[in-house]
Amino acid sequence: MFPTSIAGSLPKPAWLAETHKLWPQWRAQGAELQQAKADATLLWIKAQEDAGLDIIGDGEQARQHFVHGFLEQVEGIDFTNKVKMGIRNNRYDAMVPQVVAPLRLKGRVHAFEAQLARAHTTRQLKFTLPGPMTIVDTVADRYYGEGEEGRIKMAFAFAELLNQEALALQADGVDIIQFDEPAFNVYLDQAADWGVKALERAAQGLTCTTAVHICYGYGIQANIDWKQSLGHEWRQYEKVFPALAKSSIQQVSLECFQSHVPMDLMALLEGKDVLVGVIDVASDVIETPEQVADTIGRAMQFVPKLRVLPCTNCGLAPMDRAVAEAKLKALAQGAALARQRWG
Ligand code: ZN
Repeated sequence: MFPTSIAGSLPKPAWLAETHKLWPQWRAQGAELQQAKADATLLWIKAQEDAGLDIIGDGEQARQHFVHGFLEQVEGIDFTNKVKMGIRNNRYDAMVPQVVAPLRLKGRVHAFEAQLARAHTTRQLKFTLPGPMTIVDTVADRYYGEGEEGRIKMAFAFAELLNQEALALQADGVDIIQFDEPAFNVYLDQAADWGVKALERAAQGLTCTTAVHICYGYGIQANIDWKQSLGHEWRQYEKVFPALAKSSIQQVSLECFQSHVPMDLMALLEGKDVLVGVIDVASDVIETPEQVADTIGRAMQFVPKLRVLPCTNCGLAPMDRAVAEAKLKALAQGAALARQRWG
C-alpha cells in the first residue's frame, strides 16, 4: 500500500556535472565520464533504498537533460548547430538541437544505466523517457514542416523511436516505463487531441507497467513566475485527464502538494493508478511525514487508496543534493505514516 517513488531526476553530484542547472556541463569526458555516471547512478540507487523508497529509479544521472539525453542517440538531429527557441509556449528560452533529416535511432539510448540499475537493486525499477509531445516542444524543426501537421508528424516519428527504446528497456528488466509530458499542461487542446495518441504509440506493445508524468515543471524561476500567472485554481489537468482515463496508459503522475491543482480533478482518472505529488520541488523546505500523510489522505477522497502512489511533484535535478536526500526520506516516512493511519 502507498508504494513510493520519485518522478525521475535527482541532483547530479558536483564531481559529475555542474550543480543547480537544468542543462549542466559534464565534469569529465569519455571513459572517465562514463564511470562517473555509473558511480552517481549507484550512489542514488543506494540513497533511494536507504531512504526507504519502494520503487527505484536511476535518477537520470547518465543524461544531461531529460529530453536531450534521448535526442543525442537519434539520427537526423543536428546537435552541433543548436538554436535558441522559446519552449513550453515561450515560457523560457532553451538552446535546442534541430531536426534536419528523417529520424532513426543510432542504437540503444539508455541500455547502460538501465542494465546497471537493474543489476544493483532487487526493488521495482522505474525508468523515464520524454514523451513525444514534449520532445517536439524541445527541439527545432527544419524537416517536418510548419504548423500543426508538421508537429503531429514529428511527434509520431519520435513516438516510434521511443517505442523501440521502451521495448528494449522492458527486455532489460525495467518494471515501469514512465513518459514525461509536461507539455500536456501547456498545449491543452493538442494534448487531448493527439498528444495522448502519440503517447500510446510510444507505449505500444509494452507489457510492463506504463506511466505518464505531467507537471508544472522543475522548480526554476521561469516556472515559478509562470505558476504565479495561472491564478488561484490550476485546472490544466482537467483537459487531458479524460483522454488519459480512456487511454491504455496505466499510471498518471501529477503535481499536488503546494500546488493550486484542485484535488477533485484526480477523480477524472478513474481506473488509473495515481502517482500523487506529495513533495514540492520548488522549495527547499523539507516536508514533514505528517504533511506527506495528509496529502495522501486528501488524495484518498478522490482516488481509491490502493491506487494512490506517493511521489514527488517533479524531478529534483536542480536542487541541493542534501535537500533532495532529506526529501526522499520525508516521502518514505510520510507514506509509512499513511500506512499506519489507513493500512
Ligand atoms: Zn515534472
